[in-house]
Amino acid sequence: MTGTTPTGAASNRLTLDGETVAFEEGESLFELARRHGDAVSSLCFDDRLEPLGACRLCAVEVEGQARPVASCTTLAHAGMVVRTRTADLERHRRILTDLIVSENPTGAAIDSLRGSASQELAQLAGRYEADGRRFGGARSGASRADDANPMILRDYDHCISCYRCVRICSEQQGDDAISVGGRGFRTRITTEFDGLLADSACTFCGQCVQTCPTGALADRRALEHAETPGELAATRSICPYCGVGCSLDILTKGERIVGVRPAPDGPANEGALCVKGQFAWEWVQHPDRLTNPLVRKDGELVEASWDEALDRAAEGFREVAAAHGREAVYAVASGRAPHESAYTIQKLVRVCFQTNQIDNCSRS
Ligand code: SF4
Ligand code: SF4
Repeated sequence: MTGTTPTGAASNRLTLDGETVAFEEGESLFELARRHGDAVSSLCFDDRLEPLGACRLCAVEVEGQARPVASCTTLAHAGMVVRTRTADLERHRRILTDLIVSENPTGAAIDSLRGSASQELAQLAGRYEADGRRFGGARSGASRADDANPMILRDYDHCISCYRCVRICSEQQGDDAISVGGRGFRTRITTEFDGLLADSACTFCGQCVQTCPTGALADRRALEHAETPGELAATRSICPYCGVGCSLDILTKGERIVGVRPAPDGPANEGALCVKGQFAWEWVQHPDRLTNPLVRKDGELVEASWDEALDRAAEGFREVAAAHGREAVYAVASGRAPHESAYTIQKLVRVCFQTNQIDNCSRS
């Protein structure tokens, strides 16, 4: 990142599009401009990542600089005079958007179920009324149809080499499972030895999918539900798999769950999920899932009311304790249980069964 960091609050002022504005220490011109409007866009920026300045869409004019600078990699400093809305900049952004959209086999149109950021290019193309034919011709990027893993579609025909996927895998996930291979027109996103994701260090966390601004990386589980009728809705919830408490948005169409997305503002996960939270949600509506208690009658499992099932369970515990003593009964609480349930089960064991034999499956 270029520029100097200001010292002292009084000096933290610059001129942005003719207005005097204050900036925060360490703030980039992109972040500052974003706080003051929507003139400046980017396709390679993600708040969680070190800025790269790859897409050049965020260029702004800084007085004294011969050429526009990438605002995401330029720190604000006192006394700067910055312009974000000139006719030259708008022309520059329009040409860049036309170039990028020309690279894309479907223009910018892509199913929003592909990932959280998958509509960013489409939004930019709409804003600049991008013409995908203007720079028509050969296209870079080759999709990996051979990578048939059930979770991540590697549809690199839509890749624009923003490297958000590579950076989030390294900077946020710490896996370094993917990297950039080749040069120029042959630049591509690859794994070690150019193999399949399942043979790489990939943990299938899905972070690369959710940050990809074009849908070149896509959530295969969600895409299977692309034809489900109904409006797409998102409901904030907490992942049920473990005690970390990752926030996520459950995507639905009508009564059907069609996908899951990590919540960028989730206090425990800040936009990350593990493979289970991200991709293993279809059990919720699986036809084999039990939705009623079952009790055994004449050797067969049959549906019962909750009262009947609970009475049968209590009767069984009493019989075991009577025959073998109270130490014969113990409980293992699920690591997926919330605090309230864990508290309740230890109360049941200690007060009702009168034993301290209680443990948790998370303890190894
Ligand atoms: S796959 Fe997506 S995130 Fe990765 S470089 Fe290509 S466009 Fe960017
Ligand atoms: S799914 Fe996660 S680990 Fe795998 S390549 Fe993407 S970011 Fe890296």
